[in-house]
Amino acid sequence: MIKQALISVSDKTGVLDFARALSALGVNILSTGGTAKLLQDNGVPVTEVADYTGFPEMLDGRVKTLHPKVHGGILARRDFPEHVAKLEEHGIPEIDMVVVNLYPFQATVAKEQCSLEDAIENIDIGGPTMLRSAAKNHRDVVVIVDPADYGLVLAEMKGTGETAGSIGYDTKFRLAKKVFAHTAQYDAAITNYLTSLGPDKDHTNRAAYPQTLNLHFEKVQDMRYGENPHQTAAFYRDLVPAAGSLANYRQLQGKELSYNNIADADAAWECVKSMKGFNMPAGCVIIKHANPCGVAIGADALDAYQRALKTDPTSAFGGIIAFNVPVDGPAAEAIAKLFVEVLIAPAFTAEALQIMSAKQNVRLLEIALGDGQNVYDVKRVGGGLLVQSPDAKDVGLGDLRVVTKMQPTQQQLQDLMFAWRVAKYVKSNAIVFCAGGMTLGVGAGQMSRIDSARIASIKAQNAGLSLVGSAVASDAFFPFRDGLDVVVDAGATCVIHPGGSMRDQEVIDAADERGVVMLYTGTRHFRH
Ligand code: 5GP
Repeated sequence: MIKQALISVSDKTGVLDFARALSALGVNILSTGGTAKLLQDNGVPVTEVADYTGFPEMLDGRVKTLHPKVHGGILARRDFPEHVAKLEEHGIPEIDMVVVNLYPFQATVAKEQCSLEDAIENIDIGGPTMLRSAAKNHRDVVVIVDPADYGLVLAEMKGTGETAGSIGYDTKFRLAKKVFAHTAQYDAAITNYLTSLGPDKDHTNRAAYPQTLNLHFEKVQDMRYGENPHQTAAFYRDLVPAAGSLANYRQLQGKELSYNNIADADAAWECVKSMKGFNMPAGCVIIKHANPCGVAIGADALDAYQRALKTDPTSAFGGIIAFNVPVDGPAAEAIAKLFVEVLIAPAFTAEALQIMSAKQNVRLLEIALGDGQNVYDVKRVGGGLLVQSPDAKDVGLGDLRVVTKMQPTQQQLQDLMFAWRVAKYVKSNAIVFCAGGMTLGVGAGQMSRIDSARIASIKAQNAGLSLVGSAVASDAFFPFRDGLDVVVDAGATCVIHPGGSMRDQEVIDAADERGVVMLYTGTRHFRH
């Protein structure tokens, strides 16, 4: 039976209703200053912790609940007679429920102008102590850190029969795990903040990368295996995934996602999200082994799909397909003819769902579009972690510089912008031929740029696509003129790349000699 609860919360969401309901169930409520006042003002009977312990809150709230009468009441083992006797000897009643959430440290340090003093005052001491005491003694104490759990706990207490007025072990254990995850994350935020401060006295300089980096994720799912069958694997997501990111997916049908499915789905989704601002509204990306094997924009989903498929129909078999517009019946009908591992879109029409339901092996993922970015882009290396900001830079028309005598036409500019957008999502060295808002040939992941150029043109040939008059993007500069010669020989009439090579002049001269247009972006998009 829960007879006594201690409530001390900074985030007061839902706490009044919860306390009122506890009180109606006969629970005696102890509370700290601000929380007690809120409850009293609203007619909920409450005893202030200061009256309960006989010690006032002191030192500007630094010491409120740090008292044996509080912690003894939480930590005593109810199954140890010596513990129970000790409580009696000292006149300490048991506390059966602890409802605490902490000073908003993360929100405080997220503010641009946050001073060290402000940050320090927002390090909660008594709150985590109570949470940890209660979570440690979870066999006997219910601990709630998340207002989202109030409803569930009340429902369980209101149940009838033997367990009425109490909470089962499973719930108590689940809540305790949640608390330790929460306090670990709270301490991690403190460490990340403090170890990002330099030695300067006023601590105005905060390093982007703290000395000790603590990242927290929660498991989405275990997987049957990893990249290969002999590897084990699981998928974790940020506690609050960025808007529009893959981790927000909702699976509508199909088998469990595999490790490679998730990696490729991410590549497809990130690429297709970038297909905006063009003269056609729908974008489609087909991914195989993390590389786009076809990307196109189109009048609608079907049009974009049909054009994306043309680039490399052989590789598209068993691919992962993403759209930036809802998938409708006609698009679903066309896709259903292909063997597809995963199909991703912001939405599916009822007709599309109906058509895909006949293909239960296809995993359908619905993800809301959004422009959020991961805070950190990380890559594991032996014994360590590389951390960087995501490659979020989008080159605009205003960033481009024409370096040749030939000037681009409007059509060429559009084709080049499209090719450049695609190249960002192709593994280096990346060479991408495009025309009219679709890829014609993609050369990916080669150790030399000239080989990527050759492969891209061979692939276009294999698909029966003409490269005459095409636009080419290269994710990094051409180190020699030979790569440029390969793409011009294949039929390209305009080329976009970052520039910046020692031999830039040699490559510009070659472009002028061949009578093609060349543009510099000034930005590189290596992708490894
Ligand atoms: P209230 O608004 O009720 O005055 O304060 C609630 C907050 O005080 C909660 O976030 C809780 O974690 C925190 N708190 C409770 N006891 C102590 C304590 O002894 N020391 C500190 N620093 N914070 C406490």
